[in-house]
Amino acid sequence: MNAHIAELSNNEGPLTSRLWFRVLIGLIAGVVLGMFLGPDFDLVAKETSNTITEWLALPGQLFINIIKFIVIPLILSSVALGIAGGDDAGAVKKIGFSVVVYFMFTTTMSVLIAIFISNLIGPGEGLSQSFIESKISEGSPVDTNFGFAGSSIPETIVNLIPTNPFASMANAEMLQLVIASGITGLALLRVPKEEAIPLIDFLNSVQAATLAIVTWLMRFAPIAVFGLITRVTSERGSTAFTGMLSYMFTFILVLACLLLMYAIILMVISKRSPIEFFKNIREPFILAFSTSSSSATMPITLKTAEEKLGVNPAVSRLVVPLGTTINMDGTAAYQAVVVLFLSQAYGIPLDAGALASLLSFSIAASIGTPGMPGASLPILVAILASLGIPGEGIALVFALDRILDMCRTTVNVTGDMVTSTVVERITGMKKEVPDSATEAAK
Ligand code: ASP
Repeated sequence: MNAHIAELSNNEGPLTSRLWFRVLIGLIAGVVLGMFLGPDFDLVAKETSNTITEWLALPGQLFINIIKFIVIPLILSSVALGIAGGDDAGAVKKIGFSVVVYFMFTTTMSVLIAIFISNLIGPGEGLSQSFIESKISEGSPVDTNFGFAGSSIPETIVNLIPTNPFASMANAEMLQLVIASGITGLALLRVPKEEAIPLIDFLNSVQAATLAIVTWLMRFAPIAVFGLITRVTSERGSTAFTGMLSYMFTFILVLACLLLMYAIILMVISKRSPIEFFKNIREPFILAFSTSSSSATMPITLKTAEEKLGVNPAVSRLVVPLGTTINMDGTAAYQAVVVLFLSQAYGIPLDAGALASLLSFSIAASIGTPGMPGASLPILVAILASLGIPGEGIALVFALDRILDMCRTTVNVTGDMVTSTVVERITGMKKEVPDSATEAAK
């Protein structure tokens, strides 16, 4: 693993040779070109623009597909090894317990912050009926049969246990896979060592090979980010923003507060400099923004946690895959902001009971939302229905969802890396930070 450190960190030499810098340039160039190709400038016909951006996004699409191809073996091997690899059932219990308590705490805080700020700003207040109707008539192709939306709670719980592991892999059911590999890891701790070793060795090889692929892939990150961002930007014109600036501002402010909360947690609990931390996570941060997928970013998140933040692999290999699946503070906050925005727009006040339900639904959404682009929307439909707010209101926020998805995904991913640093600190598993980790930000 350490062999990859210098390669990934790549923080020596001129600025232009640094990976994070090239990824950032890809991002900026993508925004600029996307704007020129988009409807606002009207320089090229829509079909021509679609063809150009489809080709430009090709490397990014390949990049994401290769990551998707490795993410399942990486999750399976990391979680099982995270539990079975350390020989120490006590440590696993400690990590597992701290992770769950901490996830619940930050998710609850995220939703409370979102409720507070949405009530303070009131982004949905005073929207005219004609504005709401015009947005709704544009419609939104949201598939409501997605994730846990539409299932009862007992049904959802039953579905957490995979009956056919191959089907779970084929359908990329991340939560099921995490549970399956967790059970496998626990079983490996129980069987005699000589019987466990062949499988542990095999899982170690799987993990090493998938991480080696991530190292290769990261070289292509700048070009992947460029194409993906060009396409996203060119698809959206500024009309999506009309009348919605206050809503966007509210959500971005909530996310900024969550980042501030992380900074405080880093200083107080992890005893780390937030500035160093944020410098070190530039690559997964930008990648999460460009792909809108925490699952697709997960391998890079894991590598960054270990190689740049110097987190003990015994912690990160359990926390990052688990967090990618069940810890989404940005997503939980999004559910709350949209629900309050629509309740204000429709003039349906939410009493304390409804807010308490919103809190629990948003926490459940953080656990159940797959780490994929746009995955929040169908779950939102289910939450709106339970709170008596018209589901068609989704059409109001639909056009902006992709942009806000990019923002919330970066917070989801950041939260997983912050968690890794917290857990290693509170479980006393902090290892010496390698030089490369401290050097990385320089
Ligand atoms: N795109 C988000 C993620 O991957 C999930 C969501 O839609 O909120 O983390």
